Amino acid sequence: VPELPEVETTRRGIAPLLTGKTLVQIHSYQASLRWPVPVDQLETLAGQTLLTITRRGKYLLFQFPTGYLLAHLGMSGSMRITEQAEPPAAHDHLDLDFSGTLRLRYTDPRRFGCWLWAGEQPETHPLLSKLGPEPLSAEFTGGYLYTCTRGRKGNIKALIMNSQIVTGVGNIYANEALFMAGIRPNRAAGRLSRQRCQQLASAIRSVLESAIKQGGTTLRDFTGSDGKPGYFAQQLQVYGRGGQPCRNCQHVLTEIRQNQRTTVFCKLCQT
Ligand SMILES: [Zn+2]
Repeated sequence: VPELPEVETTRRGIAPLLTGKTLVQIHSYQASLRWPVPVDQLETLAGQTLLTITRRGKYLLFQFPTGYLLAHLGMSGSMRITEQAEPPAAHDHLDLDFSGTLRLRYTDPRRFGCWLWAGEQPETHPLLSKLGPEPLSAEFTGGYLYTCTRGRKGNIKALIMNSQIVTGVGNIYANEALFMAGIRPNRAAGRLSRQRCQQLASAIRSVLESAIKQGGTTLRDFTGSDGKPGYFAQQLQVYGRGGQPCRNCQHVLTEIRQNQRTTVFCKLCQT
């Protein structure tokens, strides 16, 4: 599942190639994604210049003079740049052709992603309007997290994965950040001290930043035509390592189900 670092890496990969280019033509091969692709609306963008590509949480926003296109990669979506001559394969659902020879191709085998029209004020779109602060923004601090946790009986892992508290922290990075901060994932959020909230906020920032950095080096080529999705393997401390030794203390890592998601932690390093 693409998480915030993959989305940001995608943005950084495609933005320099497409920003300032004119959208020439849209090809929709499968409009039935998570929600129907508004093909008629997209076609009105032909002839317009792509002004910016920005990210909000795990959403990408393509700004045109008349408004914003909103895209989400869902469970298995990816974007890459291809030549316009390249025919679509089975899971290629949408192509945006730009002036010159470049095409932005959207591929999504499971079709849980989306492309939607978000108008001129995307921050008011229902998918974006309730999102909490960006984890990499100045707004997301230990003090903010401490305030959010007060009076919360639920576990801290669910709280940091709640997009209304902080947006874009998925399961992988929630596991990794809790390990880095030395916090047990099932600890009651409301019982964390201010200092531990500070450690956790900075761990969240740190794991995301290092994943983005790693993505930038691993995924240098968004123009490749091999059809591989834009995800990257990286060095993870706990996620996917249940039953294996902790990289810090060698104790066997514990794997549990928590809020319908896999949680892995070290019983010695995380308290
Ligand atoms: Zn350990």
